Amino acid sequence: MNYEEVMNLATRRGFFLRSAESYSSTPAGFWDYGPLGVQFKNRFIEMWRKMLVRRDAMVEIDTAQIMPKNVFVASGHLASFSDPVIECGSCHSIFRADKLIEERTKKNTPEKLDDQAYDMLIQQNRIACPNCNSPLKGTKRFNMMFRVGIGPQNEEAYLRPETCQGIFVDFPYLFKTQRIKLPKGFAQYGKSFRNEIAPRQGILRQREFYQAEIEVLFTPANLDDPRFDEALGRPINIAEGDTEPRRMLASDALKEQVVPSKLIAYYLTLIQSFYEEIGLDPSNIRLRRLTDEEKAFYSSVAYDLEVRTSVGWLELVACNYRSDYDLKRHSEVSGSDFTIDEGGKRVTPHVFELSMGVDRSLYALLENCYKVEEGRTYLSLRAAVAPIQVGIFPLVTKDGLPEAATEIYRSLIKEFDALYDGSGSIGRRYARADEAGVPFCITVDHDTLSTKTVTVRNRDSKSQERVAVSELELMLPKLLR
Ligand SMILES: [Zn+2]
Repeated sequence: MNYEEVMNLATRRGFFLRSAESYSSTPAGFWDYGPLGVQFKNRFIEMWRKMLVRRDAMVEIDTAQIMPKNVFVASGHLASFSDPVIECGSCHSIFRADKLIEERTKKNTPEKLDDQAYDMLIQQNRIACPNCNSPLKGTKRFNMMFRVGIGPQNEEAYLRPETCQGIFVDFPYLFKTQRIKLPKGFAQYGKSFRNEIAPRQGILRQREFYQAEIEVLFTPANLDDPRFDEALGRPINIAEGDTEPRRMLASDALKEQVVPSKLIAYYLTLIQSFYEEIGLDPSNIRLRRLTDEEKAFYSSVAYDLEVRTSVGWLELVACNYRSDYDLKRHSEVSGSDFTIDEGGKRVTPHVFELSMGVDRSLYALLENCYKVEEGRTYLSLRAAVAPIQVGIFPLVTKDGLPEAATEIYRSLIKEFDALYDGSGSIGRRYARADEAGVPFCITVDHDTLSTKTVTVRNRDSKSQERVAVSELELMLPKLLR
């Protein structure tokens, strides 16, 4: 299957749709979640909370999306969160310099060249405007933050380009009020905004998107804390460069020094096991160690958790050791105290970050679970993330079957995400449920009225089992587990 097929199903069934689709001139990079998509995302986030936030006793917060200018002076976004752009001197079309050069030369262009280097490459390769073939002007910088003005004074502020800055600026407050001992994880899930120049990858690159970020705050003294020993026996898939990953125990990754500390090994195993638990095939996951050219300048070691998809290896989580850069900068610019006491000395905490793209994680799950077998299309989503857990269908819409099915539906909806579907042939209803990834469907037939039993159909095996109505509420949680 490919991206188009998966998005076709996702759009048809109400997972995702283009934002403001009824207007023709809507810019690219904005998407809405439909009814199934919202439930799918909620379940995904609930698993993130269960397997990462709660399991590791992290602190979850929810901070403002609009933040004042100085926050981004401190974070460095105002000065350097920009892409190189180049304008046509004649038709004034604007292109991303690195992408344009890449398209024309068919060679990878490093993302971090300076403006003169791009100008040189444009000249050397005699690249003209792709639209009108006129000469291009020199490379300029385009900042990718969305600027907003607060109040009638139009005070300079920005939509956050990542959720983590809210965690950093709240750290002194959280540390004081929550009796926190480092190392400690801080988590936030919510929207972030990036004014991409020309987003062309559909739902995989959006201008407004969901992130689920975890910032682990610690001091270098915690890097090999014994509390992280429990990770040593767990597997991780490490790739050095653009290669197939090697599945190895975290203890071996430490021995071979492809992972530098127990703390980092612990969080890498945690994030990988999260994706395995929600249903990605382990052989499709890799933690790619970034090269020095790819890393952010403040990062001493970084890994991208990537998943194999039809569009290539897709980055889902950026795992970054950000050193003490963030808190130091916020301390310098705000004048507030971001240090903690460690053995009588004031130290600035360091950060290890797990920055997850939620929308693309959901896409990756859909693609990994998209199955076509014997002419039947279904999503083999695990029950823990399936948007609907159980469907209830009356076999026909007469003879009292809809009433009996409605009664069962009403009792199950209190405990489960249930769907009642009474329209069309039973085959059509199974097909719709399969495409929505509903793991179990209950059919109410004429025997239900006399024997008080129903059939329960398993989505993946298509097998059916006759079950007493009275047993459903006990049996379903077991099946869903
Ligand atoms: Zn032009």
